[in-house]
Amino acid sequence: MGTNDLSFFEVIDPAFSQYVLFNAPVKRIAEGFDWVEGPVWFGDAGCLLFSDIPNDRILRWTDAGVTIFRQPSNYTNGNTRDRQGRLISCEHGTRRVTRTEWDGSITVIADTYLGKRLNSPNDVVVATDGAILFSDPHYGIMTDYEGFRAEQELPCAVYRVALEGKIEAVITDMACPNGLAFSPDESRLYVADTGRMFSNDPQEIRVFDIVAGRPVNGRHFHKISPGAADGVRVDSDGNVWSSAADGVHCIAPDGRLMGKVFVPEGVSNMCFGGRAKHRLFITATTGVYSVVLNRSGAQWP
Ligand code: MG
Repeated sequence: MGTNDLSFFEVIDPAFSQYVLFNAPVKRIAEGFDWVEGPVWFGDAGCLLFSDIPNDRILRWTDAGVTIFRQPSNYTNGNTRDRQGRLISCEHGTRRVTRTEWDGSITVIADTYLGKRLNSPNDVVVATDGAILFSDPHYGIMTDYEGFRAEQELPCAVYRVALEGKIEAVITDMACPNGLAFSPDESRLYVADTGRMFSNDPQEIRVFDIVAGRPVNGRHFHKISPGAADGVRVDSDGNVWSSAADGVHCIAPDGRLMGKVFVPEGVSNMCFGGRAKHRLFITATTGVYSVVLNRSGAQWP
């Protein structure tokens, strides 16, 4: 644990002090899972949905406890909501991105590109114009862990599906794109690269400019250590909150590490939620944690 704190936080840049509440604990609010990911807040229902990937289920957390939202879930990983509030999910088992309609039925957003099957969609964001951007690394089909090892048909990429349904590959020069998040004004997109399995690919967060809805001019933004960035989120000041092996790191828009929130398990992802949207929900290996921050999330949902 760090110095100059009450053990939950480490201040590296003094500016970080304004983003955290030093008397707010990091709490484990749910436990007993195998690998949790894909947190998404539904303020209208007062609940958090998250994926427990190896157990093939999406769970629903409320103050009253955890219940099953969907099982089987086709090994869903990342989740978000579109501009109408509908659940958007990245499914490993079926190698597709889906939308859950208000009546509960499921619509396929994308499962192929140029006639070839996607790898294993991992994480997803929705732009103000309704376009869905998702990462498609190969992790879900590279091992027998989830029981559907398969031939890789497409390189790892980030895709954009326009509101009318047209799909295009918009990032093709990253080893294995994973988590992604827009800056508050959507002028930038941050994308975590976790590298191909069984490789020494460099792991970093890259930043892209958004031009006509597409990410361009990709460049190095920050390298997380220890561990690597899997999921990323952005607060209302434009700071990037990233998963790390020792918790959640807060990175200024210029790429400087400002501080850390320590979590006792390796973190995969996080999202802002709660009534004031300033409670950070953190999925971390076998448990879900939360901490109230002194900043709200920038992003929808
Ligand atoms: Mg991920």
